[in-house]
Amino acid sequence: MATTEAYEEPAAVACEVCLKEIPKSVAQSLEGPDYVYYFCGDVCYQRWQAAPGMQEIGLTVSGAQLDFESARKLADLAAARLAPEPMLLAWFDKLQGKESPEVHECQHKPGWLAYAESHGGDIRVEINGGEYIFIYASNR
Ligand SMILES: [Zn+2]
Repeated sequence: MATTEAYEEPAAVACEVCLKEIPKSVAQSLEGPDYVYYFCGDVCYQRWQAAPGMQEIGLTVSGAQLDFESARKLADLAAARLAPEPMLLAWFDKLQGKESPEVHECQHKPGWLAYAESHGGDIRVEINGGEYIFIYASNR
């Protein structure tokens, strides 16, 4: 049985950051809740992810499944290395598809991320390559 494509996928997409047109086949993509973001490469992807001045901590935990509470405790500890009283502004739980706060996507960013960036978030703790992401304000 032959299958036919119902519609043609666009062959080129625009990078989210520099707006350069790139063939879809080589673009890096990131699936948001209801939108797919494309990037021409790592540099643009990271520029898109990191707000200016954001300090980033990456943690990897292997050998045990992390639930949200454990992940949050680890993130709290890590953030406290950079600021005495970090305040958690927003988080993303990829495994359960949850996020906080739940706000509408704006500026082509996930809403929780845009919220954190516009509320002074300057510490980003990413666990297991993005399974959990926590953003804190250092209140400096
Ligand atoms: Zn680009």
